[in-house]
Amino acid sequence: MSITVQGVTKYYGEQKALDNVTFKVETGSITGFLGPNGAGKSTMMKIITGFIPASSGEVYINGLEVGTNSLEVKKQIGYLPENNPLYPEMYVREYLGFVASLYKSETNRKSLVDNIIEVTGLTAEQKKTIGSLSKGYRQRVGLAQALIHKPPVLILDEATTGLDPNQIVEIRNLIKEAGREKTVMLSTHIMQEVEAICDRVIIIDKGIIVADEDIANIYSVIKKPRQVVRIGFDKEILPEALSSVANVTLARPLKDNIWLVEAEGTDDIRPVLFSFAVQNNLTVLSLQKQESNLEEVFRHLTNL
Ligand code: ADP
Ligand code: MG
Repeated sequence: MSITVQGVTKYYGEQKALDNVTFKVETGSITGFLGPNGAGKSTMMKIITGFIPASSGEVYINGLEVGTNSLEVKKQIGYLPENNPLYPEMYVREYLGFVASLYKSETNRKSLVDNIIEVTGLTAEQKKTIGSLSKGYRQRVGLAQALIHKPPVLILDEATTGLDPNQIVEIRNLIKEAGREKTVMLSTHIMQEVEAICDRVIIIDKGIIVADEDIANIYSVIKKPRQVVRIGFDKEILPEALSSVANVTLARPLKDNIWLVEAEGTDDIRPVLFSFAVQNNLTVLSLQKQESNLEEVFRHLTNL
């Protein structure tokens, strides 16, 4: 079961929460969706699960487009929303029976409920009301409702936020267990969470994907020397012109002939950009070195 996100942009009114997001998640892996608060993680997850529409772009679950197949897609997905909304006055067993009835007929409902109560370690709590449970057990109920219909895809939005260290270990173990046979995507703003349970990490910042790597590579990617400069010219130029400059890996127009240029290596890219301007009859009106987006995000995430 794969998740394919293709050029997804989302506006809330004037505000752009996701900017042309593209990635693919393959079967049998746990992918961390990592980013600071407000990066767009929950928005992306709501779009993947079909709860809100994208402004443009598509999401496919195993080839099925989410917007046009939302009922079929919901059967394939288990979703634990951020803040895990539950009915506090319902009993654990009663609630899970209610969730099961949304998916399956009366006949196998009891066995689904029995099974999920055992898998998520809720046997001793099943006759209590949800409101009387500790936060850790409430999170187990949230996971139970996401897993009850045995979906091949699991989307977990900040599943361990607000739990104490013991509860975090328990919930992570449940997620790891689920990840053996499912495609799991979990969002978090904590780097250590990704290291503890994920095979892969997609890093998002201000609605833009800034890294997409196997966990084993992420530190080398972050530590790779790179420079980001903001350069303004007096005239319009084509993006190809800048991206063909030696060592330049990315050239993005910002506004008014100002460009964001990313370059690899440790040799200062600024004199090279000056020569480029001279050769092309351009005047450099502004030039500032910036911190690499990825380094900045990473520092934020690790509180360095
Ligand atoms: P994250 O989950 O990474 O913290 P969100 O997806 O919740 O980020 O939010 C991304 C951005 O979109 C934030 O700036 C947030 O304020 C904004 N946003 C989220 N939901 C809404 C909404 N329903 N209406 C308006 N703005 C929203
Ligand atoms: Mg969120």
